[in-house]
Amino acid sequence: MSKKLKILMIGAHLDDNDFRGGGVSLKYLSLGHEVRFLSVCNGSGGHHEMAPAEIAARRRKEADAVAALTGIEYDIWDIEDCELVADLETRKRMVRYIREYNPDIIFTHRTNDYHADHRNAALLVQDASYLLTVPHFCSDVPAMRVMPVIMYFYDKFVNPVFAPDIVIPTDDVIDKKYEMFDCHVSQVYEWLPYEKGTLDQVPSDSKERLEWLKCPRIPRDRILTDAKDLNVYSPSNNSEYREATAAVKYRDKIAERYGREIADRTLFAEAFQVSEYGEDLTEENKNILFPF
Ligand SMILES: [Zn+2]
Repeated sequence: MSKKLKILMIGAHLDDNDFRGGGVSLKYLSLGHEVRFLSVCNGSGGHHEMAPAEIAARRRKEADAVAALTGIEYDIWDIEDCELVADLETRKRMVRYIREYNPDIIFTHRTNDYHADHRNAALLVQDASYLLTVPHFCSDVPAMRVMPVIMYFYDKFVNPVFAPDIVIPTDDVIDKKYEMFDCHVSQVYEWLPYEKGTLDQVPSDSKERLEWLKCPRIPRDRILTDAKDLNVYSPSNNSEYREATAAVKYRDKIAERYGREIADRTLFAEAFQVSEYGEDLTEENKNILFPF
């Protein structure tokens, strides 16, 4: 390894980074790089029974479990769920936070997204990007000389459509990625099933519920090639079909980087689009920043 990379994933909520970038995070960590997750909101909105302060405290513990499992450093800001705004004070906080960590690459949401917190987290990163290098803005923390490369997480929204610049196979880390999901008990076994009306289907046994979370599972003996296969299941659940989405939709993009043979046997992948407001992702720094 020529240089230890610092990876920063900025999601609006606890688990956004896990869901959208957990696989590549595990790949960075296995190569000795450093990964930090920031959840801009504190998780206070994510339950149907527990009080906001109670659920925020519980979600901190769940994030700590992910940190203990993986080695990811997991930061959480004190902003209530559903109340994130991209105002000047929060922009300054974001600029200082990014400068202090000094990442090589940032991953975050796109600004077109169904959730206001996702949009505003993305906007805060975009607003911060150029200002990271402006010394008179937040002059108490030294400005960066160059911006980090900024990548957007995959999303399903189409106006404008997500256009991946890099698609990374995650078959080798998919089981561990599910172990990360499994740490977010209040989310994946309580809140999300409550929202979907499937709470009564969640097994009480901890091994059985993890298996339930993965279901319906992707058949291991054949490759899904048709995006219609994915639409059989709601993309909002956590089944293996969601984890397969990028591999099915962007198989040619995988082939471009890894060759047709690998692309044709990839079941799971994560896709990312470069932000034009960060440093350019060139052919040269692509292989440094994505060393797998
Ligand atoms: Zn979210």
